Amino acid sequence: MLTDIEIAQQTKLIPIDQLAHEYGLSDDQFIPYGRDKAKVALDTSNAKGKLILVTATSGMPAGSGKTTTSIAVAQAFKKLGEKACLALREPSLGPSFGMKGGAAGGGYSQVVPMESINLHFTGDFHAITAANNLLAALIDNARHQGQVDLKEITWRRVLDVNDRMLRNIVTGLGGSANGIPTETGFDITAASELMAIVCLAAGEEDLRVRLDRLVVGLKRDGSAYTCKELGATGALMALLKDAMLPNLVQSIEGVPAFVHGGPFANIAHGCNSVAATRAAMTIADWAITEAGFGSDLGAEKFYDIKCRMNNLQPAATILVTSLRALKWHGGVPLPEIGKENMDALINGLPNLKAHIVSLKRFGQQVVVSLNHFANDNEEEIDVVRKECLAAGVRFAISDGFAKGGEGALDVAREVMVAVKEGSKPLNYAYSLDESIEEKIQDVNTKVYGGQDVSYSSAALKDLAKIKALNMGFEKLPICIAKTPFSMSHDPDLKGAPHGFTLPVQRVILNAGAGFLVVTTGAIMRMPGLPKKPAAYTIDVVDGKITGLS
Ligand code: ADP
Ligand code: MG
Repeated sequence: MLTDIEIAQQTKLIPIDQLAHEYGLSDDQFIPYGRDKAKVALDTSNAKGKLILVTATSGMPAGSGKTTTSIAVAQAFKKLGEKACLALREPSLGPSFGMKGGAAGGGYSQVVPMESINLHFTGDFHAITAANNLLAALIDNARHQGQVDLKEITWRRVLDVNDRMLRNIVTGLGGSANGIPTETGFDITAASELMAIVCLAAGEEDLRVRLDRLVVGLKRDGSAYTCKELGATGALMALLKDAMLPNLVQSIEGVPAFVHGGPFANIAHGCNSVAATRAAMTIADWAITEAGFGSDLGAEKFYDIKCRMNNLQPAATILVTSLRALKWHGGVPLPEIGKENMDALINGLPNLKAHIVSLKRFGQQVVVSLNHFANDNEEEIDVVRKECLAAGVRFAISDGFAKGGEGALDVAREVMVAVKEGSKPLNYAYSLDESIEEKIQDVNTKVYGGQDVSYSSAALKDLAKIKALNMGFEKLPICIAKTPFSMSHDPDLKGAPHGFTLPVQRVILNAGAGFLVVTTGAIMRMPGLPKKPAAYTIDVVDGKITGLS
C-alpha cells in the first residue's frame, strides 16, 4: 500500500470554488486561498445538520484512528447518497515534526491538500501565535513604562514548535533599558488560551467579549488585570479576524471538510472551532466531528463545554476502538499489540465498556466503530462485537484506512439507525451552579470512575484566589487536564480503574476561553522532541514534500 502522503498527492482535487458551489455557497460566502483551500464567511444561524461526534476508547501513543474514521464515515455517507461534511481540528506543527506525525487522517481516508493542512495551511496558527505574543509584549511594555504594577503575570508566550528549552526562561535581561527581568516561559500554540478562545467564540462580538474579559495577571491589590484594561482587545481582534473564519478543504473522495482550530485535548478542550462545526451543520445534513483522545477527555469536554456553551445537541456518538488499543489496555507492551492475543483482548474489554457506559450516561446513542488493521483476527473481532451488543450499543467495522468510504458503509448505516432511535438531550456531568470542587468530583466519579479528589496546597490557593476575585468565575465549566492513556490521572492504570483519588495540582483561570483548567499531575504545555523526531524524515524532492505522515 502507498504511504499516506503518496495517496494524498495522487488525489485529483476538486477546485475549491467548484466544491463550495456544489454545497450551496455563493461567491460572497467564501474567500479562496489558492486553488484548494478557502475561508468561509457564512451565516450559521440556521445550522440544521445532524451532529455526529467521533471519540475513542483510551488513547494510544500512536493515535486511535479517530480522524481516519471520521473521514471514512463522512465518505461513506456520501457513497450512500447523503450530504455530509466534516469538521476537524487543524494539526499543530509540534506533533508533525515530533513524535505523532500529522493529523489529516490516514490511508484512503484523508483530508487534502495534506501537506498544506499539516504545515502552514491558511496561517491560523501563525495568527494566533502572533496575537498571543503581541499581548505578552504589550503587558511587559506597560510594566516597563510604569503604567501598571503587577504582582503576578499569568500570560505566557507561545510557539508552535516542540521546544523544551523554552518551557522556563527569564526575559528582560541586560539592564533596565531592556525591560524588567521576569521568570516566564513558552507554551505550544495549541495549548494556548487564545486557541481555545478562537475555537469557542460564537462570532466577532463574542470574540470581543472573551478577549475583553481575558485575565492576564493580578495587580498589587489582588484584583484582575484584563486585556480590556490593558487596551489590547482591538489589536488582537485585527490579528485574529481571518483566523476566526473556518477553512474549507476536501477529503480524498470529495467530501467537504472544515478544518479549523486546534486545541490539544489533554490540556485544552480538544475540538475544532464552533464556527467550523456550525458551518458543517449549515451546508450538509450530516456534520461529522472529532474530539481529541478518549471519551473521558474529548467527549466529556465536547459535551460539557463546547455543546453547552453553544446549545449544540449531538445526534449520536461514534466510539472508535481497535484490537490493538484494547490489547494495550489488556497489558500487552506497545511493540506487541499487533499480534493475536485473545487473553489480552479480553483483559482490555473493561476499558471499552467504561467508555460505553460513560457515553450512554450523557444520553448518547453510541455506535462502536472498530478501526480495522490489515492482520486483524476474525475471532477477536467477534469478541468485541459481542461485548458491544451485550452493552446495548451498535457495532460495525471501519476499514476506511484501506478502502476509504466503501470500508465504512456499515458504520454509516448503523449511525443512521442510531440517530433514528434518537439520543436524549445531553445529560451533562455537572451543572454550572455547582461549586468548582463539586464539578471536579462529578467528572471524577461519573466519567473517570474515581472515588475522591485531593488538592495540592497550590490548588487550594488557586481556588481561594479565584473565589476572592469575586467575578463569578466559580460558575465556569471545568476543563480537566490529564493523561489520555488511562481513564484516571495515572497512565499506568489501564483498563477501567476504580476507587482512585484524583490529585488536583492546579486550578487555572481561563476567563477568556470561559473555563477553569484543572491539572492533575504534570501536564505538558510545551512538548519536547523525541530521540528520533519525525523532522528527520521530512524533505522536499523535485518540488514535492516527502516523509510527512
Ligand atoms: P487519532 O485521530 O485518533 O489521533 P488518526 O486517525 O490520526 O488517529 O490515526 C493515527 C495514525 O494511525 C495515522 O498515521 C493513521 O494513518 C494511522 N492509522 C489509522 N488507522 C489505521 C489503520 N486501520 N491501519 C493502519 N494505520 C492506521
Ligand atoms: Mg485525530
